Amino acid sequence: MKIFDTHCHIDDPAYTHIPDVIERARRSDVMSVMIAGVDAERSEKGIVLAEKYQNVYAAVGIHPHDAQTCSESILERLKSLACSHSKVKAWGEIGLDFNRMHSPQKDQEKWLARQLEVANSLNLPVIFHERDSEGRLYEILKTFKPSYNGVIHCFSGGSTDLKNFLGLGLYIGITGILTIKGRGAKLRKLVKDMPLDRIVIETDAPYLTPTPERNRHKLNEPAFVKTVLYKLSEITGIEPEPLSETIWENSCKLFNINPA
Ligand SMILES: [Zn+2]
Ligand SMILES: [Zn+2]
Repeated sequence: MKIFDTHCHIDDPAYTHIPDVIERARRSDVMSVMIAGVDAERSEKGIVLAEKYQNVYAAVGIHPHDAQTCSESILERLKSLACSHSKVKAWGEIGLDFNRMHSPQKDQEKWLARQLEVANSLNLPVIFHERDSEGRLYEILKTFKPSYNGVIHCFSGGSTDLKNFLGLGLYIGITGILTIKGRGAKLRKLVKDMPLDRIVIETDAPYLTPTPERNRHKLNEPAFVKTVLYKLSEITGIEPEPLSETIWENSCKLFNINPA
């Protein structure tokens, strides 16, 4: 079986020994991993890891939380990183987060729009972060008319959001929230309406450790995305093996890659 963790942050300083994290991922059939960027320094760190390990890839971008610290010179730096490192296969994570409002809405929207332009000019797929934007991300993407692939990572919306994002041709990223008793109930209902060819899975590690791993491990890690796959198999009634094949193909299409 081949599993792709399409969104994680193993560049996070919380991880003290990355070779072990990669080894445990491989032993759980997690053969490929995408490290999402949150700011310029972390994006660079992600690239260093991607270049060190086979089938590990990186995305560069400024997270909506950090939008107010963004600038044209930072975008230039990210752009040149993306152009000079072949393991950079996506732009992100970018988007809107009105839940925590770590950056003012106007900054979030400004730098989302600018990063979309840059990603588009580089022909890179985009990783979107969306939380409580009340339809605003959809409005922006609708007017921008994206010509790229993209994924709404850690999908947390309702059925209208789902319909809208699917209508834009985006992939939907499912995290370990799917496995969590109360918090995952809405998502477990919604995944039944998701077309199989649009689903990808992710950990968002070190956050969102799935059940039952969360009882024993403080940190989430790519190996645990297998639990998301098995939960999805249970909900859809599709055997893990064929399900993993479909989701692997979706992930490769999303990022335009063909891991060895
Ligand atoms: Zn995110
Ligand atoms: Zn993330």
